[in-house]
Amino acid sequence: MNFIQTRGYDENRPKTVTFSEAILSPIASFGGLYVPENLPELGEAFLLKHLHSSYKTLASDMLSHFEIDIDKEVIDEALALYDNFDDKNNPVPVVKVRENLYISELYHGPTRAFKDMALQPFGIVLSSIAQKRNENYLILAATSGDTGPAALETFKNRANVQVACLYPAGGTSDVQRLQMVTEDAKNLKVIGIHGVFDDAQNALKHLLASNDFKMALQEKNISLSAANSVNFGRIIFQIIYHIHSYLELVRQNAVNMGEKVYLNVPSGNFGNALGGYYAWKMGLPVEKIIISSNENNVLTQLIRDGKYDLRHMKVVNTTSPAMDILKSSNVERVLYDLFGEVRTRALMEDLESKNVYELTSSELATLRKYFDADFCNGDEGKAYIKETFEKNAYLMDPHTATCFKSYETCSNPEIKSIIYSTAEWTKFSPVIANALTGEKDAEDIIALESISKIAKLEIPAMVKGLFSKKIVQDTVIEKEDIAKEILKFL
Ligand SMILES: *Cc1c(COP(=O)(O)O)cnc(C)c1O
Repeated sequence: MNFIQTRGYDENRPKTVTFSEAILSPIASFGGLYVPENLPELGEAFLLKHLHSSYKTLASDMLSHFEIDIDKEVIDEALALYDNFDDKNNPVPVVKVRENLYISELYHGPTRAFKDMALQPFGIVLSSIAQKRNENYLILAATSGDTGPAALETFKNRANVQVACLYPAGGTSDVQRLQMVTEDAKNLKVIGIHGVFDDAQNALKHLLASNDFKMALQEKNISLSAANSVNFGRIIFQIIYHIHSYLELVRQNAVNMGEKVYLNVPSGNFGNALGGYYAWKMGLPVEKIIISSNENNVLTQLIRDGKYDLRHMKVVNTTSPAMDILKSSNVERVLYDLFGEVRTRALMEDLESKNVYELTSSELATLRKYFDADFCNGDEGKAYIKETFEKNAYLMDPHTATCFKSYETCSNPEIKSIIYSTAEWTKFSPVIANALTGEKDAEDIIALESISKIAKLEIPAMVKGLFSKKIVQDTVIEKEDIAKEILKFL
């Protein structure tokens, strides 16, 4: 299958590209994104066929319907990484928490957050494309905490790929920082910068656009790529777990095949939600996708009022930092799917030039057929963490907690809901400890221990081990020095 472009094409590049090409240079004409030419129609027959399949078998068959230009052996090798999750037979457990309310746990991979779901297989796919073309790639990543560890983990010691990962020094949790700075491999460079996440992100965008930097790389025979969540190579792996979670409900006799469910997604850059939208379009029985946000509630505003208005908004730091995003990039793919390339280009240009776009009332009605949304502030989130722990004996992280608000305000409780849990409690322990006991500003290790005592849960060995692991990546620099530091590493 070929890939087409959300904002039309500019005649400078090909009108359609292969999957490999869309992965290697994810930005399309006029700054748009690549989308599949058409989505495979799977329907109920596919669901019935895979009712008792393993995660990997389901994934492999779903991917084959996309007819992408990646060899089957490579796909199999990529999917085999799900064997390293906690339970090889069930990498994504779906747990009943209350009547009609189920949680799909997407965090059982090596870095304990849902980024592993897509980045683990993506690493193999990208490295194999690079080897096949006999090319070398530098992957740049800027992280507020979860993408960095997952990207380092997946590219560690992979051929033809080097990674430079930028993080705000002091701006991540201890666990997240230790996951990065203890990562020891010749092809990985972790760089702390004095600044906030936006500084890291801006530095990355600047490098991706810099001709000087590209020339300097070319001299070393290296091309530049990025592993951010607009990359379709990540999105494709995020369709699978929505289908899997539904099949789990059927297997648990929670729904009859064909019965519609809500998908409730804690959203930032909208990759997770987009995966659910594509799964729905491919035949999954969905009532509605509920988008949950934190105080950075631009998606709620869009889905409720049809307006994406950043004119008076500034990113605020919240207790769910992986969702502290205002430019939610993957929304563009939904706009394209619903309203076409001409309209998408006009809307995105409005956003770039005026910091705002507005849907017509009929466009808004169309969008609302698929989505509803609400946002949850930090105190509300902590109250849901405490209540769900005390009443339902279920421990969740602050990102997952945002879904409980929209569950109450946006869904019909008679219809089953799947809430997606995107991080393990170990990754955001100070917020959770604060929610459960009121203790404030504890260091991660203290918070981990107090939660472990209250919840009678072991701190996973991998997380505990981080605190005594040798720090091998100790570079912390000013943002002006990033390019120089990366070139030195290469
Ligand atoms: C990345 C992330 C999110 C947001 O997911 P998107 O696909 O960007 O919407 C939510 N929670 C956690 C813990 C994350 O790491």
